[in-house]
Amino acid sequence: MQRIFIIEDEAAIADTLLYALQHEGFDCHWLTLGSEAIIQQQKQPADLWILDIGLPDLNGFEVCKQLRRFSDVPVIFLTARDTEIDRVIGLEIGADDYVTKPFSPREVAARVKAILKRTLLSTKSVEKVATDNLFVVDNDRYIIYLHQQPLNLTRHEFNLLQQLISQPNRVFTREQLLDALGISVDAGYERNIDSHIKAIRAKIREIDNSVEAIRTHRGFGYSYEPSS
Ligand code: CA
Repeated sequence: MQRIFIIEDEAAIADTLLYALQHEGFDCHWLTLGSEAIIQQQKQPADLWILDIGLPDLNGFEVCKQLRRFSDVPVIFLTARDTEIDRVIGLEIGADDYVTKPFSPREVAARVKAILKRTLLSTKSVEKVATDNLFVVDNDRYIIYLHQQPLNLTRHEFNLLQQLISQPNRVFTREQLLDALGISVDAGYERNIDSHIKAIRAKIREIDNSVEAIRTHRGFGYSYEPSS
């Protein structure tokens, strides 16, 4: 059974989450202090953390940073304000996802399932994979190299490119790529795939502007074409 810890100082919020996640079959626990999270993860690691940002002791950002010093455990933030969202999606925090208050517990449960599924898939392919002469994917460190130079990818961009490279010449639809990112298809996020692809292409061009590895299939989606 997968174990989830919720750090939240408001009992009513924690209760609805506990109920929803236990209903989905997770072993779910609740703590109110950020400092307890660090100790807990060192003692008996959880499979995923749900962190509130406004906590009585450390704030959620600080908790996440401290967790990241020794653990890659997935983290979902509960945010209350727009200003917090900017920081959550900023790279320095290292969160996997966030939900804004007020939220539906079912939505949180769906995000949790998607992230755990993705984590399971990526830990299955832990060895370094030299896919061809072009890219080398390091699934342990979430780095993709082009000509031995690391591409400076965000987590979503890494997952996208990794997915495309994993099956050369296969056309992935935007829905399939969203699924690979662990984002539910009904989240209205499909066009964001296009902007992620655009960003990946720009980062590839920074290293070698003759590489046209990602092909657009109009009306379908994208594929990785190692020969083109
Ligand atoms: Ca709070």
